[in-house]
Amino acid sequence: MSDINKLIQEIVKFRDERDWEQFHNSKDLALALSIESSELLELFLWKDSEDFKIDKLKEELADVLMYAFLIANKHDLSIAEIIQEKMRKNAEKYPVDKSKGNATKYNEL
Ligand SMILES: [Mg+2]
Repeated sequence: MSDINKLIQEIVKFRDERDWEQFHNSKDLALALSIESSELLELFLWKDSEDFKIDKLKEELADVLMYAFLIANKHDLSIAEIIQEKMRKNAEKYPVDKSKGNATKYNEL
């Protein structure tokens, strides 16, 4: 079992010990992911780009990742497979010769 799958099993165990799966429908998991990503954004609000507390960043990033893993787990998606598939698509959208050192969106390359 991969490290990520072991982590997901720990998260699921935590959830199941509290009988919270009943609350974890797809919509609410997606909302929770978005809310946690907003909490991550809040660390940067009204500050310079690199002026944030690393301990808070770790906490909010963990929250975001845990909800992302729970969504994947709910739909029996392999984290490795969905990331590799999306990276293949991204590689097609952003060929190195056009994208290197360039932050332009793919539809404007
Ligand atoms: Mg949070």
